[in-house]
Amino acid sequence: MSTDARLAPFRDAARLVVKVGSSLLVAADGSARRDWLATLAEDVATCAARGQRVILVSSGAIALGARLLGLKSGGRASLEDAQAAAAVGQIRLAGLWADQLAAHGLKAAQMLVTLGDFEERRRWLNAAATLERLVALGVVPVLNENDSVATEEIRFGDNDRLAARVAQAARAEAVLLLSDVDGLYTANPDRSPDARRIDLVPDLEAVASLADSGSRSGMGSGGMAAKLEAARIARAAGIPLAIAAGAGPHPLARFLETGQGTVFPAAPGAPARKAWLVGRMVVEGRLRVDAGAAQALGQGRSLLAAGITAVEGGFARGDAVDVVAPDGRTIARGLVAYDAEEVSRIAGKRSDAIGAILGYAPRSAVIHRDQMVML
Ligand code: GLU
Repeated sequence: MSTDARLAPFRDAARLVVKVGSSLLVAADGSARRDWLATLAEDVATCAARGQRVILVSSGAIALGARLLGLKSGGRASLEDAQAAAAVGQIRLAGLWADQLAAHGLKAAQMLVTLGDFEERRRWLNAAATLERLVALGVVPVLNENDSVATEEIRFGDNDRLAARVAQAARAEAVLLLSDVDGLYTANPDRSPDARRIDLVPDLEAVASLADSGSRSGMGSGGMAAKLEAARIARAAGIPLAIAAGAGPHPLARFLETGQGTVFPAAPGAPARKAWLVGRMVVEGRLRVDAGAAQALGQGRSLLAAGITAVEGGFARGDAVDVVAPDGRTIARGLVAYDAEEVSRIAGKRSDAIGAILGYAPRSAVIHRDQMVML
């Protein structure tokens, strides 16, 4: 694929999400890289001038706050440190963006979100509506995780996946992750001199083993594993994603011009609700199914009780669960129509026997196909 073809979705996107990693915004000594930030703000203004709306996902709160508080390990020694550092750093971070964007006549808006805001459908729609209004008002949204209240269980933990979710919520057409690495390599470039950058990744499965978790700078928390996970979420939503080097000046303009980086093209977009479901990060349980059921799901059918061989987790009706094939692969995710205890009772039973077991008229499926996505 030519560079122009790879880049077209990013150049043409009416709305583009740009994620900025901590190590770009914050120098090794913990101070903000203002001059660099000024060049990126200029890029955002250039995009705006040609009608492209940029939505920023900015890391850096913890790194900035850690310096201000004199905390060790970049503020990541404990959750309490990270929460305190984020609280102190976020106010700085928001100020930096507001100032830099204002220098180009742009208004910045801060949105701090937690995982739950994007996992629960109603809260998701609410966040989406706010983004919609901000973009309509010509404001540049700057998002980050609300790290000062997010605890381990309820946090994204990295802004890569957050950026993919934000793109979905904001109905963006492309996502660019600006990082201290300039893309995905065939091997770890720090260790293998022969490592080559991969320009285009049409098949995520084929590169899954190349993820090397942990970030190079030690400042952010994402690493390649989180970036590939972000690519998976974006892909399912029909949104292309790219990873490009951010450290030099004008990183956004440079990427849009040269295309240096790794591009993950979009899959044909799943319907929005299904894409939201794939992007969810918390599943409350697992249903193991037999080969016949796995095959039926592959043909677009609903999951019936008869094909379920085991039930794991304490989920309630309406929760998201994964469906696992006999070979151990997770093949689908969906919203389950019964509680875990009810599914345990009807697992392996034919539809005509279920009413008597439950004592009420059964639902048409354990997971209806409209509430399920194949993975
Ligand atoms: N939300 C974190 C921060 O602002 C960064 C998360 C990440 O490293 O991706 O510091």
